[in-house]
Amino acid sequence: MRYEGNIFRPFSEANSYLLQCTIGCSHNQCTFCGMYKDKKYRVRTLDEIKEDISMARDQIGDVEKVFLCDGDAIAIETPVLLEILKELKQAFPSLRHVGAYVGPQSTLSKSMAELIELREAGLAKAYLGVETGDERILKEIRKGVTYAEMLEAGQSLVEAGMNLSSMILLGIAGRGPRSKEHALATAKITNEMKPHYLAALTVTPVPGTVLYRQIERGEFELLDPFETLEEMKVLFENLTVENLKFVGIHASNYLPVNGTLPRDRERMLVAINSVLDSRDGSALRSERERGL
Ligand code: SF4
Repeated sequence: MRYEGNIFRPFSEANSYLLQCTIGCSHNQCTFCGMYKDKKYRVRTLDEIKEDISMARDQIGDVEKVFLCDGDAIAIETPVLLEILKELKQAFPSLRHVGAYVGPQSTLSKSMAELIELREAGLAKAYLGVETGDERILKEIRKGVTYAEMLEAGQSLVEAGMNLSSMILLGIAGRGPRSKEHALATAKITNEMKPHYLAALTVTPVPGTVLYRQIERGEFELLDPFETLEEMKVLFENLTVENLKFVGIHASNYLPVNGTLPRDRERMLVAINSVLDSRDGSALRSERERGL
């Protein structure tokens, strides 16, 4: 098993075999993201990837879960991706789940027939960085797509039968009235997209990023912990998707909250309101405890 540079994976892929298929992110322009700033995007050769799969089989044996790294593995040409999925199935008889980060532009470049073929070949879980439903913010953070394009990408993944996890970013609007607008717009795109999971992360400034410099210049004001909870509260009050698993335990969040909506809405709101009402910061993760 060989890896180039830092490797990132979603929290829920902690037990997966991480197979690095791409190096870096094909987009690599989002203002808040420093994950792949040190890497120039490329797709590893199929031979290299097959060698890695063979090494993994020899070293760790059979596995049930595989996550395709780095960012945006769905950018790989469909025939190559199908070959990788076939190789994984042959190498790991118990394989039941392959997941990947998927960029919205790369997803849109695939036809519905291709997405279905990929899902049937084993690509079961897609993690889409939606970040916000606010059109203006999508542009400001250089996400590379409009609201309509992001929505279409997410809906296509759901229609193709993939298990979709939409990742959103609390605090990405900065301070002021746009914070609530961001939360409302994010609830709206989620309601229309209907992902199976909604994973919330909180903006954390990363040195070297555009956002970091904006903060240094005083052009972007970070929310305080209570203000991020206000955003979460607006989200919970406005999400209407049935059986939506909300995953809010990421290390960047001040208050870890998990639950299934709408069933757990009241419990989740009580947890947030009790902190907001008491202004008791002891229930929150300290800046030192928070992570990326
Ligand atoms: S947030 Fe995702 S799409 Fe944007 S640069 Fe980072 S890895 Fe790439």
